[in-house]
Formats: sequence, C-alpha cells, structure tokens
Amino acid sequence: MPSVLAIKVVRQNYAPNNDILGLLQTFRAITNSCIEIGLANDAWSLRRLSELSYKALAGYRCPSYYKLGAISRAAGILAARKKSMRRRMPTRTPYSFKPQLASCYGFKIKDKTFSLPIGGGRTFSILLNRHTLEILSDENLRVKSFVLTPSTISLCVTKEVANVECIDMAGVDRNLRNLTCGNERCISRYDLSKAAEIAATTTSITSSFKRNDARIRHKIASKYGKRRRDRTNQLLHNVTKRIVNEAKRRREALVLENITGIRKLFRRHNGATSSFRGTMNGWKFREAQRQIEYKAAWQGLSVIRLTRKETRGTSITCPRCGERLQSDREHHRELWCSSCEKWTDRDVVAAINLAQRGRLRFDRSKGEAIEAMKRNPTPTVPLRVDASKLDRPTAETSRTFIDD
Ligand SMILES: [Zn+2]
Repeated sequence: MPSVLAIKVVRQNYAPNNDILGLLQTFRAITNSCIEIGLANDAWSLRRLSELSYKALAGYRCPSYYKLGAISRAAGILAARKKSMRRRMPTRTPYSFKPQLASCYGFKIKDKTFSLPIGGGRTFSILLNRHTLEILSDENLRVKSFVLTPSTISLCVTKEVANVECIDMAGVDRNLRNLTCGNERCISRYDLSKAAEIAATTTSITSSFKRNDARIRHKIASKYGKRRRDRTNQLLHNVTKRIVNEAKRRREALVLENITGIRKLFRRHNGATSSFRGTMNGWKFREAQRQIEYKAAWQGLSVIRLTRKETRGTSITCPRCGERLQSDREHHRELWCSSCEKWTDRDVVAAINLAQRGRLRFDRSKGEAIEAMKRNPTPTVPLRVDASKLDRPTAETSRTFIDD
C-alpha cells in the first residue's frame, strides 16, 4: 500500500520567562542581520547565506543551531520576496518584527515536558497539555521542529499515512450557512448558520461603538474579532472533521471548487448593499478548505481541487440532464429543471456537480498517468482512486440532512 508523509502542527500556550523572551529577541535580531547580509550581497539561497553570514553572527550569544535556524528563516523570507518581485508585486524591504524562535535541533520531549537549551548549559521546560500529549501519544508520529512565540509553542509533527484507496468522489459545496458534501448516492448537509449568526452579532456589537478614537475602537473591536474567530473556528473544525471521517468511511475522495477571486464579487459599486457585502466578506470560506485539506491528508484521503474552468456552471446545471436550471422567488434556495420537471436544492445541485466534475478530472488524469508510465518507469499518479471500482449511479439520491 503506498503511503505519504502527512504534516500537521499542534499548538498550545505557555508562560515564558525572561531568558526565553531574550532568546526570542536574539533570534529575531539574527534573522534581521541575515536578511541585511542577503540583501547586500544579493544572496537568497540557504547555502550562500550560510557561507556569508555564519562568521558575522559570532557576536550573538545563543546555541549555534538556533543561528542555523535563523539563517534558514532569513532565506525563506528572502526567497518569498524574490518571488513577489518576479511576479511584479510591490515589495518592501523585508524585516522580521515578531520575536520568535524556530528550530529543528536541540529540543527534547520527555515525561510530558518539552525542553529546549537556552545557552550556557541551561534548559527551559514547558509542560505539555492534555491535547498536545494526546496527539503525541501516536507511536508512528515524529516531532520534526518547533516554533516558539512569546505566548505559544507549535510543534510540527509528521506521520507516514497509508493512502485510502478511494472508490468514488464526494463534492463539497461551501456556503455561508452550510457545508454540503456528497454525490448522487448520498448527500449530507452540515449546518453553519450558527457561525453566520455569531458573525452578525459581532458586527452589530462593534458597529455600536461610539468612542471618538479610532485606536480605542480598534482595540475593543479586535477583542470581539478574536472571540468571533475562536467560536466560528470551533464550529468549522467540528464539521470538517465529520466530513473527512465520513468520506474516509465511504472511501470517497473529496472534491473542492476553486473560489479564488470570490472577494471580487463583493466589492463596492457592484450593486450589493454594504451590509450584504459585510456579511459575505466576513465569511471564512478559505478556512473550511484549509481544514478539510490538512485533515484529509492526515487520514491519507485524496482531495481534488478543481480549477475555475472545471467549476464553471456547477451551481446552475442540472446534474441529471445538464439543462440550465431556473430560480424562482417563491422557492427560496431551490432550482427548477424544465426537462426533469423537478425542484432541487441548490447546494445539493452544486455538490453533485462537483463530484461529477471530480470524476471527469480523474478519468483525464488517469489517461495522462498511463501515458506517463510508458515514458517514465516511476510515474507519479496524481490521484489514488481506483477507476475500475467507480460505478456511475443514476438512481435517485438518498439524502441525510444533518442539522444541529
Ligand atoms: Zn434535469
């Protein structure tokens, strides 16, 4: 069974002491010196940057592997800048503002504590919480690196995951008020109207602030913004976990649509009211995708991200006959197909269409993979779906709407 290396990050809070805060500042200073050296010599590769800066960093007092980490961080920043310049995007002189420490060396995890050397033979220990320990308890898991900020520690963990051999596809349609997932055989709808409600409440609270000082308004609003983020993320995590688990149980690859440029739809002067624009722009459509993708990777499940061209018309085409669907004011979220003479929920239409487009993509990619195999003895098959086991049902869909 082929396997892939899945990566995820587990994060928890901790209380720093002065030594740690000093170390974070040193790391930041080293990163900035490296960036300076890189800019002065037009160097951005890790190797060249190490050669140039290693001696210049001798003055900083900290374990030498943190210097390596800082050089690699600077190389990353410089590479990102170079990429932006190549794409002709406006760039500023890079500078690391936030104190932090990232390293893949020197740390130890033992007896429920994470300890890292802070120089001079001393170490700093952080007691890991229940959630972190639960994740680390997996024996196949390896902790690769850590990132420390003044309040949080993030551990990057990897695991070899066996691929799930998928036998079908499930489309995931993202909406403001729900996530709909499935195909012709089974559709599940996960209610997210609570998240929309939370967003609306937060907006009404923050818009009621009357203090005539933008800084204070900003400070209070950001407190409510954080609260909103935490609450909606919690709801989303719950739903995406269920979607991925369900897909794994049914051995279905998940198909997501490309929604790049969705923000352009809700700009000023395009006819929408400002409150509607506010609602749509407050919607975290990308977060659901991020969660589904990393959770699926962790389970060994394939995720197909369709291009915009492949996604065209998924919400207005009848999945049974391909006819363009009609909407009606009375049937709020339903669409009419004149040739099937049927009303169908628009989220269901979108999810089924996505699943079908996913299969289409797979059929095409399979053809390419066979061709590639002839030329290349070690092909990389882009999808891990067994097409021989795909059967194309046309029968009426069974639906389970999960609302809670
Ligand atoms: Zn039809």
